[in-house]
Amino acid sequence: MFLDLAFAKAESLKNIIPLSKNKKIELTASVARMKSKQIRQTFLDFFENKKHQIVASAPMVIKNDPTLMFTNAGMNQFKEYFLGNSDPKNNRVADSQKCLRVSGKHNDLEEVGVDTYHHTMFEMLGNWSFGDYFKKEAIAWAWELLTEVYGIDKDCLYVTIFEGDKSENLNRDTEAYDYWKELIAEDRILNGNKADNFWEMGAQGPCGPCSEIHVDIRSDEEKAKVDGATLVNMDHPQVVEIWNLVFMQYNRMADGNLKNLPAQHVDTGMGFERLAMVLQNVQSNYDTDVFTPLIREIETITGHSYGKTEQEDIAIRVIADHLRAVSFSIADGQLPSNNGAGYVIRMILRRAIRYGFTYLGKKEPFIYQLVNTLSKQMGDAFPELKSQKNLILNVIKEEEASFLRTLENGLALLDSMVASMKNDGVTVLDGKKAFELNDTYGFPKELTRLILSEHGLQMDEDGFAKALKKQQEGSRKASATETSDWTTLREDDTQEFVGYDRLSGDVRISKYRKVVSKKDGELYQIVFNMTPFYGESGGQTGDKGYIESASGDTVYIIDTKKENGQTVHLTKNLPKELDGPFKVTVDAHQRARTAANHTATHLLHQALRKILGTHVEQKGSMVRSASLRFDFSHFSKVTKEELVEIENFVNARIREQLPLEENRNNTYDQAIAEGAIGLFGEKYGDVVRTIKFGESQELCGGTHVKNTADIWHFKITNETAVASGIRRIEAITSDAVKDFFAEQSKSFEEIKEILKNPTKSPAESIAALQEENNALKKEIEQLKKAKAGNLKGDLIDSTQLINGVNFISSKTDLDTKSVKELAFDIERDMENLFLIIGAENDGKATLTVILSKNLIEEKNLNAGSIVRELGKHIQGGGGGQPHFATAGGKNAAGIDAALVAAEEMIK
Ligand code: ATP
Ligand code: MG
Repeated sequence: MFLDLAFAKAESLKNIIPLSKNKKIELTASVARMKSKQIRQTFLDFFENKKHQIVASAPMVIKNDPTLMFTNAGMNQFKEYFLGNSDPKNNRVADSQKCLRVSGKHNDLEEVGVDTYHHTMFEMLGNWSFGDYFKKEAIAWAWELLTEVYGIDKDCLYVTIFEGDKSENLNRDTEAYDYWKELIAEDRILNGNKADNFWEMGAQGPCGPCSEIHVDIRSDEEKAKVDGATLVNMDHPQVVEIWNLVFMQYNRMADGNLKNLPAQHVDTGMGFERLAMVLQNVQSNYDTDVFTPLIREIETITGHSYGKTEQEDIAIRVIADHLRAVSFSIADGQLPSNNGAGYVIRMILRRAIRYGFTYLGKKEPFIYQLVNTLSKQMGDAFPELKSQKNLILNVIKEEEASFLRTLENGLALLDSMVASMKNDGVTVLDGKKAFELNDTYGFPKELTRLILSEHGLQMDEDGFAKALKKQQEGSRKASATETSDWTTLREDDTQEFVGYDRLSGDVRISKYRKVVSKKDGELYQIVFNMTPFYGESGGQTGDKGYIESASGDTVYIIDTKKENGQTVHLTKNLPKELDGPFKVTVDAHQRARTAANHTATHLLHQALRKILGTHVEQKGSMVRSASLRFDFSHFSKVTKEELVEIENFVNARIREQLPLEENRNNTYDQAIAEGAIGLFGEKYGDVVRTIKFGESQELCGGTHVKNTADIWHFKITNETAVASGIRRIEAITSDAVKDFFAEQSKSFEEIKEILKNPTKSPAESIAALQEENNALKKEIEQLKKAKAGNLKGDLIDSTQLINGVNFISSKTDLDTKSVKELAFDIERDMENLFLIIGAENDGKATLTVILSKNLIEEKNLNAGSIVRELGKHIQGGGGGQPHFATAGGKNAAGIDAALVAAEEMIK
């Protein structure tokens, strides 16, 4: 097979580069630029040729790692290999990994769109050696690929090496230097400090010196003016880092010290979009074919052209970038929400919305329209964008609409703040208030600042920053955890999971550590050489149980988690004799209920696809011992009839007594070919497990019943919406259903007991009672009206003419609404009227005053100030309009005095 490739600098290339046996790249000496698709493929082919296994990108949203929400580097999915928790199948691997850098240690969000080479979501091309090759090959191959295959001019490149660090007791990386100087002029090898050239995954864990490759794509004139070497790592948009070669050789311990790793590894990451910028000979990532289709579409929709003003350009870049991040996340199963990863996604989308709102004048949802373009453009490389297009589009549209409403409310609030500032002669908006607008109403700081400046006002930036810092510190304190290093008792232990077959076993402790957090207090994490405990994953909660030592000492396991490929057991204290041996036992009752719920979830999934249609895709699930929850894509509410049908379907499968058919040794492709359903956004290994009950077949690592009969019965308890296009069903099985029915029948008996009507069914009795109740309500209304009618006549008869004013005063026990109606009724029939009614209800007092219009104008009377004055007698306050006002108070005994005082006023 020949790939027809074109190169930026084809003349510097050899004519044919042999790739793997049946793959050859034919070089065309064409000036045409390499398309991004070819750039990606060439990278993978190159490393395949160097005996690397090409693997798929891991999901961008990470589901089972407490320390990381999103994949932020290619190495994340291989963390367990670097940590030595498990062994890789192949010690050379390459891929293109979807990354998102918007939270935690790597957060580029504020740069994105403002500059032209940082994205939220981007592809990182990487090659890895797990204990295989090291610096020499990593450096030589990177150079070969860039300069010979891609044909980048050597005179555009700079490389950096780690200069060493005294405080860490680390020497300069002369090894890397010596390899580089064979390839590149020595004045192009630059020293870099710890911040730039020592790569660390997080506060703890594998790390090591790195060597970066930078490219200078400025024009020749500019290069002549300023030496490129002085611009490396200086945030220059045309002198940027494209590739980082990390040489993992240390492990950062909890106390900050470095320990040598047992083996040396290579971890490289190259920014795909930046590489495309270089090879397509443009000055910005956004001018590559990765982004231009989106930018053209934004221009069409908004009517703003790219390349006119800086502010609008930033907005357009932000929208193009964020659309990708949000769409890929939704496809990975992460919807925008109010917490965790979902909240981060919501914030990214909101950033795009407000840039559109502020700088492109878009007050209506529009970003969702770009999903079509994205799906067309990237759907071949990422089929999930095609299959889930409608869902992505709907979710974004809904989010846009709701945030635009929030923005409008925020605008109204800010308007009123501006008005009162002007009133009080204040020119700087209190920082706390600006922060509150941002925090509570989602109202962005930039917009606040912009609107204030339109009124010649300012924002207290320091105050804002202080309020923000205070909040961040608060949440950091609340979530702070302190993790000590593992204490390893047995180095060579491998961890075996036996929990599919057994619920207890004889074990030894391999390692343990202490974790202290505000939320959970002091806990221990224990790893055994083997375990029957299921660690929380795939939506199923972790097992509970206990550890017993030979002497009978018992320690409870309160939860089990999976972390970096190992099962971690949580306890409140450590067993006394740590050397063991121990017997560990899983809480069997809880496990059985959880298993029943998990199997029921599969049957529910099958039922939904049968009854609602195959558009139904799982979007999340939660399987606990008490209940189950299943989220899925579907565009309308599931009707009552459908719910009954779904329940019946699942219960029919339970009655069929379908046995579990399990295969623990399938390959992913084989399982899918056999019709098993996998969950998109889930990370599957080389070996997958399939779970089959009759026609239900899924890839699943969870625990299940041996036979569907063990589920006993399935009952749906709730159906709701989670987001636009996503529904949620909650249900119960086994013991929980028994409890549910027992509870229902008990309250049914209680109802019958209360109704005491043996001739009618309870439903008939309740309907009869409701009817009677409505009739009584109507009767009361009529009686009240009649009473008020009589009172009206009496009051008019009691009118006194005082100083030319028709004065009426009265005391009653009518409710407020009736008094108001009565007052307006009288006012309609009389002129020159001053009416005051004092009413007592439930020990509380109200005063109602109504004045004829002419009294307000001629006598300068005001009902509002009158009730406020008279309100003192009933120990209350009130107000209203000049024409009508009321006061409420707690001293009903003062009503008479208030009425007398009113009469005095007129006199
Ligand atoms: P920079 O200093 O430019 O932010 P970095 O040091 O954070 O880069 P690494 O963590 O070494 O980058 O990541 C490896 C490569 O991934 C970089 O060389 C770069 O090409 C690319 N890269 C990093 N961050 C981004 C981003 N936000 N958007 C696009 N590409 C990126
Ligand atoms: Mg960075």
